[in-house]
Amino acid sequence: MVQNLSKVVAQDKNFLNIINGRRVPALSQETITVLCPSDGLAFATIPAGNADDVDRAVGAAREAFDHGPWSRMPAVDRGRLLTRLGQLIEQHGDELAALESRDTGKPIRQGRADVVAAMRYYEFYGGAGDKIHGDTIPFLDGYTALTLREPHGVVAGIIPWNYPMQIMARVVGAALAMGNTLVIKPAEDASLSTIRIGELAMEAGFPDGVLNVITGYGREAGAALSSHPDIDYVTFTGSPATGTAIQQAAATNNRGVTMELGGKSPQIVFADADIEKALPVLVNAIIQNGGQTCSAGSRILIERPIYEEVAAALGERFDKLVAGPHDADLDLGAMINPAQKRRVENYVAAAAETGIDVVGRGSIDINAPVAGFYVAPVLFGAVDPSAIIAQEEVFGPVLSLFAFDSELDAIRLANSTEYGLVAGLWTKDGARQHRVAKRVRAGQVFVNAYGAGGGIELPFGGFKKSGHGREKGFEALYDMSATKTIIFRHD
Ligand code: NAD
Repeated sequence: MVQNLSKVVAQDKNFLNIINGRRVPALSQETITVLCPSDGLAFATIPAGNADDVDRAVGAAREAFDHGPWSRMPAVDRGRLLTRLGQLIEQHGDELAALESRDTGKPIRQGRADVVAAMRYYEFYGGAGDKIHGDTIPFLDGYTALTLREPHGVVAGIIPWNYPMQIMARVVGAALAMGNTLVIKPAEDASLSTIRIGELAMEAGFPDGVLNVITGYGREAGAALSSHPDIDYVTFTGSPATGTAIQQAAATNNRGVTMELGGKSPQIVFADADIEKALPVLVNAIIQNGGQTCSAGSRILIERPIYEEVAAALGERFDKLVAGPHDADLDLGAMINPAQKRRVENYVAAAAETGIDVVGRGSIDINAPVAGFYVAPVLFGAVDPSAIIAQEEVFGPVLSLFAFDSELDAIRLANSTEYGLVAGLWTKDGARQHRVAKRVRAGQVFVNAYGAGGGIELPFGGFKKSGHGREKGFEALYDMSATKTIIFRHD
């Protein structure tokens, strides 16, 4: 049912940066116009921050870290503020879900799911920071040695447009729980929820300068932030190419980084799998957020004896998928911007031109505004593992099927791309579950499941080109801190 969400988003407005506990425009007064992907219409503006704005924000975070109460505050008190922020997010859940879905084009139910996940991150990290501790280490006679986990200092968080509220939450939760201060830069295509949650953090009572939000283009605000000499650590989620640029920028100051990059994640379906259980999960893994998900299950490897049956069943499901406006809450929404729409269409056209079979194709809702950035989902069958569509991350609703003949063949195919983020296995054979899970190069492996609702508690990150470092769960708290060793001599 189409809902009128315009009442939920308070009103079209000009959003501002948050620096040192104050809402401020860009020093240049320049703005970026925000378009809704569902209809291509402008409905808000954000500041076009540049190096000068970044400098102010980093200065505020530096001051808050060096001289403020934050890094010396008991972890339990920092945790209470994070928990309070989670409660405010829950209270403003309808507003935030509507804002996120309007800003990104995602169906409103996904916006609501993002609110729940964001709230859970603040809840988790609100309770986790006081449970991380160091060790005492047996050392020489007459000595006692111990370790402390200390914050890095000022952290830069550069995040993408696909799940801004969730990715902001995992960065803010882990970084602030460990006593860092933060400058966060959301993507120019989807900054609104980050700003709004920054405002809620002010309401929650975080000390000034602890959480700063700077919006702007990647090549300006992002580049200035990642190369700023007063940044002590950079955490980035986004494309591999930008990840390389950010690592090079951080390397000019020899700073540490966490990199959450792309994926080309496989799901392996063995002949003994429970197909009925698998089918909706296989489809959802590529359709969620229109396939604009780093962990999208974009390749399905099917054991040859069941290949035709599974391909036909997936084709039937694909034919029924419909893309439409965020407030219509259909199977998927629009792509984030016209460039992303063209990119996905180009991949589809190039694959079709090389003769790859289309075994399923969804449609675009007839009521969808023509100026929206929609693409219809496509299912390609019998794809050659060396084809471009089999190797490159499309970041859209495009799924490729492959046939395999043996367990070894499946593992080889699963590992045959440059990526290694997530994988799924579908089999009832317990020994095979363990064997294959260990041999697939992916940071997360699901067995008879995929995606599992956000997995706030579960370490997440990639092998190979998918990145390094881990976010989510307790692991992120180690990335967001450094070990200090103290050695006492007492002979
Ligand atoms: P992107 O790399 O274009 O942008 C991400 C962020 O980096 C944005 O805030 C952007 O403004 C900024 N940026 C761009 N150029 C920059 C530069 N030179 N210096 C500093 N900052 C710069 O990515 P995107 O298009 O927003 O997101 C899509 C990509 O993100 C996909 O490849 C996807 O797989 C990946 N992703 C990965 C994960 C993960 O956890 N592994 C999660 C979500 C998205």
